[in-house]
Parts: sequence; structure tokens; C-alpha cells
Amino acid sequence: KAWEVLQAGGTSLDAVEQGCMIEEANEKGQSVGKGGLPDRDGNVTLDACIMNKHGDCGSVVYMQNVTHAISVARKVMEDTPHVMLAGKGAEQFAYEQGFKKEDLLTEASKKAWEEWKIKSEYKPIINIENHDTIGMLAIDKNGDISGACTTSGLAYKMAGRVGDSPIIGSGLFVDNEIGAAVATGLGEEVVKTVGSFLVVELMRQGKSPQEACEEAI
Ligand code: ASP
Repeated sequence: KAWEVLQAGGTSLDAVEQGCMIEEANEKGQSVGKGGLPDRDGNVTLDACIMNKHGDCGSVVYMQNVTHAISVARKVMEDTPHVMLAGKGAEQFAYEQGFKKEDLLTEASKKAWEEWKIKSEYKPIINIENHDTIGMLAIDKNGDISGACTTSGLAYKMAGRVGDSPIIGSGLFVDNEIGAAVATGLGEEVVKTVGSFLVVELMRQGKSPQEACEEAI
């Protein structure tokens, strides 16, 4: 979808938003948007952020009942004087902007949570089987970069837990002159290193994207 937007001459900002929206709406994906695995109390809580070529950004954290967290984050960026809205405030803002209320807990995710509850073992081990935050970076025909990141966070996290994904500099950072980075993995580790900002800063110092990522990790 993002490629389609770019190929039609659209902006990188529209490309990353619309690309992320595909996975947010995909109920089969259990790590993003609708159908995401819940926290240990059974609540699906979403984190997302978006950043444009000017360094403007918007973010929602711990938001419930609204599928397209990335679009709400974009509205925060474009229509409020703030960068980040959390929890009930973010949800209320989304309804005011016309987003509809939806139950994000699908039968499949509810079943997985009920099975998890039998042992209630919380092991925040991240591998390709249990996570997959969507991060997208795009550069458009004008050479302008935008980035977006959206997730339901770690499965069975504590109520109130927020990871790296909605935090500018940790889950995402864009500098239109240097480049951009977006993260997935164990959010607590990414927050401790301000990972995406670090990668962009290492590229600013002359490192290649590969070298910058290796050093940050
Ligand atoms: N980084 C995300 C978080 O910690 C998880 C993921 O990448 O899947 O919330």
C-alpha cells in the first residue's frame, strides 16, 4: 500500500500512514491494532507514533478501543499543540475526530490470553514468533522522509506498560537531512538506549545504516 501511494506521487507521510493502517486492520496479525494480544488483564492497548520531514511528530500511548492508532497519532501531530496523548485522553480525542469505537479483542486473541492465564508466566523474550511491531520509513519523489510505528506492545504486559514504539527517539526518529530509523524488539531495551535517535546520530557521524544499527545494538 505504501508503494502504491509513493508510485502515485503521494507524500511519504501518507505512504507510511496508509501502509501501517493495513496491518492495524488485519485481525490475523496479533501484534498490531485490531486482534493484537492483550495485556495480562485482557485489555488490548495500542501505542503508535508518526514523524514528518519537518521533525513534527504525534503519538498515542496506551489507547484502547480504536483500531487506527497511527491515524490518531497523525491527528495529534496535525491538529493539536501537543506531541503525545495517553489512555482515556487519547481515546476521547479519537472519538472527537470521528474515529469509531471498536472492541479490539478478537476471539483468537481472547483464546490465546485465556490459555496464557493458566500458567500466567510472563517471559519478555522477544523473537519472531511473539512480536512484530510495524515500523515503516519512506522517502518520496521530493526526497522527503517520514516514519511511522504502531503496535499493541508486548503480549501479556502489565496494565499501564508502554514500550518504545510511541516514544519519539526510541521507537522512531526521522531527520530529513540524515535519514531515519524505526525499531522493533524488546521495548525496554530500546528505550534505555534511545535506540532510533542513536542510529540516526551515528549516521550523522558518517556511519552507514548497517554500521549504525550494529553499534546501537
Ligand atoms: N517494541 C515493541 C514493544 O516493546 C514490541 C515489538 O516490537 O513487537 O512494545
